[in-house]
Amino acid sequence: EAKSAGRNQICLITDKMIEKTETEFMLLEELRKALRDESFKVHFQPKFDLKTNKIIGAEALLRWWHPTLGQITPNQFIPLAEKSGLIKELGFWVLEQSIKECVYWHKRGYKDLIIAVNLSPIQFNSPDFTKSVLQLLGRHGLAESYLELEITENVLIEQNDVQKSNINMLAMAGIKLAIDDFGKGYSNLAYIKKLNIDSIKIDYEFVKGMTSNEDDMAIVTAIIDIAKRLGIKSVAEGVEAEETVGLLKELGCNSAQGFLWSHALESAAFNTFLDEYKF
Ligand code: C2E
Ligand code: MG
Ligand code: MG
Ligand code: MG
Repeated sequence: EAKSAGRNQICLITDKMIEKTETEFMLLEELRKALRDESFKVHFQPKFDLKTNKIIGAEALLRWWHPTLGQITPNQFIPLAEKSGLIKELGFWVLEQSIKECVYWHKRGYKDLIIAVNLSPIQFNSPDFTKSVLQLLGRHGLAESYLELEITENVLIEQNDVQKSNINMLAMAGIKLAIDDFGKGYSNLAYIKKLNIDSIKIDYEFVKGMTSNEDDMAIVTAIIDIAKRLGIKSVAEGVEAEETVGLLKELGCNSAQGFLWSHALESAAFNTFLDEYKF
């Protein structure tokens, strides 16, 4: 009996695995199609200076609306795009859309806005990645200092030589670098000193908890303090409550983004937001 139960279990696992593979395969096909059909969209979430309350820029967040499956979140499709290598093409497309959008804001008179783009480690695994980013900026006429690239901290620890040299070259060219989801991974602080990092983004989980949980409050306080002492900007992500803003201001956090102000908006809505925002 135990034997047959074991066999059943194995069958179950195998079925699930096949199912998962089929789903992934199907999604991957859809991903390829979406890239061809341009059914991806880049949305923009405004970022705010906590001292002046002014908008300082936006983070580009990729959106995929599938005709039958509906909205598929980046956390669902980015890993798949990474696994398949499609992320190189997709990531480059996001970069170009984002750069174009930032140029548009500048043309409309919002000349100081910075565009932040999330980067997958696979993208800067290519030796010519930095060159292609610089070419893209040149082609669209955007100065390096208006582009910020967000990289998660695990990536910075596990990087290989090609990735390391890309990160150094990007920083040397004047492109800003941010560590995303800070506190969630290894929190090895050595690389912050070694690399030319401009800002660290405090992970949403800690920011969410800081009004009700002492540990989260302690972690956020410590991160902001470390950032200050290292001369790096701190950015809070996922701010949903006014109360959180008050605490962040007291702690001296530099900037923030979150649903309290706005979700990520498509280009037209973002530009309306810029025009109508009062501070
Ligand atoms: P992330 O870079 O940490 O982006 C922040 C995520 O938090 C976004 O989720 C954003 O919509 C969400 N968020 C912002 N404010 C709030 C808030 O107040 N409350 C809550 N609950 N959430 C908030 P999203 O757009 O689903 O993206 C998830 C992740 O997918 C991103 O995390 C990023 O790692 C990745 N991603 C998104 N777009 C791209 C892209 O173009 N390229 C790459 N490589 N990754 C991307
Ligand atoms: Mg990010
Ligand atoms: Mg993040
Ligand atoms: Mg995240």
